[in-house]
Amino acid sequence: MTSTRHVIVVGAAGQVGGALMRQLGDRGVPITRQEADMTNRADLLKSLADAGPAQLLINAAAYTNVDRAESEPALAHVVNGEAPGWMAEWAAEQQIPFVHYSTEYVFPGGQPEPWSERDTPAPLSVYGASKLAGEQAVRAVGGHDITLRTSWVYDDSARNFVGRVLERAATVDQLTMVADQKGAPTYAPDLAATTLAIADVMAVNGATLPNLLHLTGAGSVWRPEYARTIISLARDSGLLARDVAVVDAPVSAQADGAARPQSCLLDCSLAESFGFTLPDWQSSLARSMSARSQ
Ligand code: NDP
Repeated sequence: MTSTRHVIVVGAAGQVGGALMRQLGDRGVPITRQEADMTNRADLLKSLADAGPAQLLINAAAYTNVDRAESEPALAHVVNGEAPGWMAEWAAEQQIPFVHYSTEYVFPGGQPEPWSERDTPAPLSVYGASKLAGEQAVRAVGGHDITLRTSWVYDDSARNFVGRVLERAATVDQLTMVADQKGAPTYAPDLAATTLAIADVMAVNGATLPNLLHLTGAGSVWRPEYARTIISLARDSGLLARDVAVVDAPVSAQADGAARPQSCLLDCSLAESFGFTLPDWQSSLARSMSARSQ
């Protein structure tokens, strides 16, 4: 856990922001939508100033509705593409490190090999393009920043794939999952803990870390197998009383919405070389099930 004293967490009510706040305890200073609308630069800068002196700024806020972003591109672009640059500028003025998050959706997917930090992004969706713009806006400031690209984030709430599978499994006998998506599930508390370990290294000597790292749960899984594992673990932990079948659907069965990269994995070996690894996705999912069943 970071030894840094005051840490401002923007997006503190989100999955990753919430996990960060729980781990920071009284060292975390939350900024949620209540304190600042991220589309309003003056509003955001005022809330940062009001948060008081800090040693670290983390931006965990984002416009994360991938499908809705297709019909709200301007809003997605301001929140994901511009506001991160405003925060990076503010952090640079304060001479404090800035941590930002991005996504595997900056890549088009479609190759079996994981994408590395050296690969050229080519997003397929408005969301992916807006997140790429945010990465670039942060880097353009040239401060003491790091962007952590991650994937398939979930916490212990209902507002993610794990929660939705559990909700649906409670009412249907069979779930249908598109079979062409492979990813690395990432448990928000794991990502938060490693973020704070990275922040510790930045606080001591920022020059030792690159400005971009890939960081996901270890391993990977196809979407239907992921759902089957969720159901199996839910049955083991008493969250689900009956069995539910998961059927692979053809790619064409995917609902209208944003184009998503197929089989898009992030190569996390650069983060590993600095000693930053997340647990394997199965063990983290088991911990989440255990937390949900408390
Ligand atoms: P969440 O959607 O859980 O949280 C995002 C937060 O941002 C929410 O609390 C939301 O507030 C807030 N927010 C959005 N728009 C505004 C706005 N205009 N003004 C103020 N606050 C706003 O995101 P995650 O925790 O899942 O994601 C954290 C990071 O990880 C993001 O950068 C995301 O792009 C990235 N990421 C996420 C993935 C995922 O699967 N979720 C996958 C890959 C990367 P409110 O709740 O009020 O809307």
